[in-house]
Amino acid sequence: MHEVSAHAVIVGAGHAGGFAAAVLRQYGWKGPITLVGAEPIPPYQRPPLSKAWLTGGSDLASLLLRPAAFYAANAITLRLSSLVTDIDRANRSLSLDTGESIAYDHLILALGAQARMLSVPGRDLVGVFELRTMADADRLKATLRPGLRLTIIGAGYIGLEAAASARAIGADVTVIERESRVLARVASQRLSDFFQRRHEAGGVRIILDAAIEAFEGTDGRATGVRLAGGRRIACDAVLVAIGATPNDALARSAGLTCADGIVVDAAARTSDPMIQAIGDCTRRSLPLYQRTGRLESVPNALEQAKQASASLCGRTPPAPEVPWFWSDQYEVRLQIAGLLFDVSEGVVRGDPATGAFAIFHLAANGVVQAVEAVNAAAEFMAGRTMIAKRKQVAPARLRDMSSSLRELIA
Ligand code: FAD
Repeated sequence: MHEVSAHAVIVGAGHAGGFAAAVLRQYGWKGPITLVGAEPIPPYQRPPLSKAWLTGGSDLASLLLRPAAFYAANAITLRLSSLVTDIDRANRSLSLDTGESIAYDHLILALGAQARMLSVPGRDLVGVFELRTMADADRLKATLRPGLRLTIIGAGYIGLEAAASARAIGADVTVIERESRVLARVASQRLSDFFQRRHEAGGVRIILDAAIEAFEGTDGRATGVRLAGGRRIACDAVLVAIGATPNDALARSAGLTCADGIVVDAAARTSDPMIQAIGDCTRRSLPLYQRTGRLESVPNALEQAKQASASLCGRTPPAPEVPWFWSDQYEVRLQIAGLLFDVSEGVVRGDPATGAFAIFHLAANGVVQAVEAVNAAAEFMAGRTMIAKRKQVAPARLRDMSSSLRELIA
């Protein structure tokens, strides 16, 4: 445990960093807390950026993690529009792009991730967007209008959510995906099929197995996308949504162990005992799955913020959580608990044709590893409990809608 009157500095004022500052205080940290962030706004939630924020259904107050006054009221010094450029571990000091330096006793890195860009010609054309920050979302939002021809590269969560939002505004949307199905990295084949059908029913054109060769433009403005093989998709704007890379360069140059993310343990500790790391910038252990991984999700950011704060304040670390994710597209609320590792074919409970169903994924020994729930909150909750308990459940019972979920988790 660290001296609770020491100076805790958190770098990255995003979801993980903002929450960690609040939880540190809640857990009894008495010393100064400084939260340094490169963006000009206090910590905010990114999930609405591809959903309600794009369609005009949410405002800044609802996006902020805490009201701006919260930080001063809790003796948390908020340094916005400030980029940390260097960590001097020997002297426990940070350099900022403003020329200032900040001394720390304990450091928490909550650096997040950045949108991956395609390295193809034309990526700098006006009208080629990415979607990670509120500023990105505002630029895209200002362009979206009925009839706009928007091409989205990438059929992951963010690409598909943006597709649904753009359709709600009346844009003409084409999604181009490199893999042979949508949500290929994060969902099962059945779920991919469901979402592809839903988007096509909503008027989205989906092109699979396609490689981007270039963005084309006239007078510096994007006018189309050229695919390998020569096919051209004419458009007025392009959104590149092909995933994110962890912001671990600052940690790497400070000599911390990184492997596509800052490597941390179950208390969010890095290879330096005075430095922890949390959220999208980390590679963490996944105790239920006996491997390490990167989890880019709000629940993970919150879990690791609690791990870091508990360990700093000498509290018992929280029990490991089952990883979970959500996505909202049209009227569909997708909730996924667990990870699709070592699973056999899924067991479907409910009828996908009704728009409400769940797919349970079991390991070869019958233990529930993951559940994908579509408008099925009860199945999601039950699945999460089964995964945490490492429950073995017979597929026939899961499939049978007359078997009660309460009995299945007991
Ligand atoms: P971030 O929130 O990215 O915060 C990191 C912050 O650190 C940034 O503000 C960055 O500017 C700052 N920073 C980086 N380097 C420095 C530096 N050197 N000095 C100072 N500051 C620095 N997750 C879900 O669970 N459900 C969803 O539905 C969902 N939807 C999403 C939709 C979109 C459009 C996006 C972009 C993400 C979505 N996510 C969703 C993911 C979720 O938002 C992230 O997992 C979460 O924000 C991670 O929090 P973080 O604090 O680790 O990173």
